[in-house]
Amino acid sequence: KTIDASAFLQRMIAKLQPSYEQKHVTLSLQSANSLYAAIDEERFEQVMMNLLNNALAHSEPHSRTTVTAAVEQQALLIQVQDEGEGIPAGDIPHVFERFYRVDKSRTRAKGGSGLGLAIVKEIVELHGGSIAVRSSPGKGTVFTIQLPL
Ligand code: ATP
Ligand code: MG
Repeated sequence: KTIDASAFLQRMIAKLQPSYEQKHVTLSLQSANSLYAAIDEERFEQVMMNLLNNALAHSEPHSRTTVTAAVEQQALLIQVQDEGEGIPAGDIPHVFERFYRVDKSRTRAKGGSGLGLAIVKEIVELHGGSIAVRSSPGKGTVFTIQLPL
């Protein structure tokens, strides 16, 4: 079903705004209006919740997380960019694997199972899209989703 992606992302952000405010992390959307794409809302809600909860879990107070949506080369690009602790280069190739967690003890304390990003990747690929990650330890992380228009 074709939906307005910018309105959808705005709803996702509104949903997580209370958790972000509680930790004093700024969450915002940068998007053109009315970006239409074929998105299964229920499944894609899981994608956005996973990415935004990860960003929040790995961010410090007074940092920001930005969701950006844009059209580029016949694709809808959705980025989730945080200013959190980042992911070490050696772990980057593994973060989409089931049950993979960067710092086992740290992440266990935060209650993660390491399944979130594996599910995210599966749902994005079911939409015919792809997901990539770039990170600078100490500076932040950006996940980029590409969906065919
Ligand atoms: P779950 O999502 O199943 O509750 P999880 O968050 O630990 O558990 P994933 O979402 O799959 O699992 O993420 C895998 C690992 O990648 C995390 O444990 C964390 O170490 C790292 N990670 C994911 N997103 C970020 C991020 N935005 N910043 C820093 N590290 C991240
Ligand atoms: Mg997660």
